[in-house]
Amino acid sequence: MIDLHTHTRESDGTCSPQELVEAARRAGLEALGITDHDTFAGYEQAVPLAREAGLPLICGIELSTAWGSPKEKSVHLLGYFIDAPPPPALLDRLGQILTSRRDRNRRLALKLQSLGCDIRIEEVEAMGRSLAGRPHFARLLVAKGYCKDISQAFREYLDESAPAYVQRDEPAFEEAVALTNQNGGISSLAHPVRLGKRNLEEEEKLVRRMAGMGLRAIEVWHSDHSPADEQRFLAYARKYGLKVTGGSDFHGGAKPGVRLGVGAGKLRIPRDVLEQLRA
Ligand code: AMP
Ligand code: FE
Ligand code: FE
Ligand code: ZN
Repeated sequence: MIDLHTHTRESDGTCSPQELVEAARRAGLEALGITDHDTFAGYEQAVPLAREAGLPLICGIELSTAWGSPKEKSVHLLGYFIDAPPPPALLDRLGQILTSRRDRNRRLALKLQSLGCDIRIEEVEAMGRSLAGRPHFARLLVAKGYCKDISQAFREYLDESAPAYVQRDEPAFEEAVALTNQNGGISSLAHPVRLGKRNLEEEEKLVRRMAGMGLRAIEVWHSDHSPADEQRFLAYARKYGLKVTGGSDFHGGAKPGVRLGVGAGKLRIPRDVLEQLRA
């Protein structure tokens, strides 16, 4: 059993890198990919721990990218096997993304205050470590009783169409693909089921365009995918010459229904996915 899509508390997961490596070993994983949003901090801390545990560890990252107009939902892109240590050009761009995120977070905190929520930027940053984001705002809104759960927090305050929404600088999809490919990485379209297209023709057209922009892989196995989704994405991979990836998108306590390796219970990621990615 392998899992190539997981998050630590260095982005919006809740496990430390050490807890994640331990949980991976307990779950019997044969390989673990760490794909924190916008940062390698969790992966880097996990390297010596995984080595000690005899657990093959794969370097990854997840970037939110802009597709179409700024009001559109962002498209998530995974990057695997980026050169180590990460090249300066990539680190510089991640630095810019982080700066814009911090600035967005400050404005978002002020907007929430103006809407009557006592949420201070210091609290959010303490929770978010390397990378504070909307999921941390959501957890605080729940913890302080302004919302009953995370999805209400997004619906009423944080979503693209909600009153506290503040835009941040996201790389364009094509730029993020190039940034990954040019730095030795394999770019993979994360959880394509969330592209949210109205029909399957539109979805396929989108994947075809992305492949034309240099996308190199597609996440076929994911906790949110049904068996029919897996079959469809596998067919796109064959048709458009994409490699395949898979992972649970484990976030620890932030997504309690998703377990390492098995997702909501039925996830099975073929082991040879990793060999083919490496080939
Ligand atoms: P940020 O990068 O800080 O703007 O936050 C984006 C993250 O928030 C995404 O990576 C998702 O994990 C999460 N997110 C976005 N919309 C929702 C939602 N409606 N419910 C739960 N999580 C969400
Ligand atoms: Fe996340
Ligand atoms: Fe994602
Ligand atoms: Zn993810």
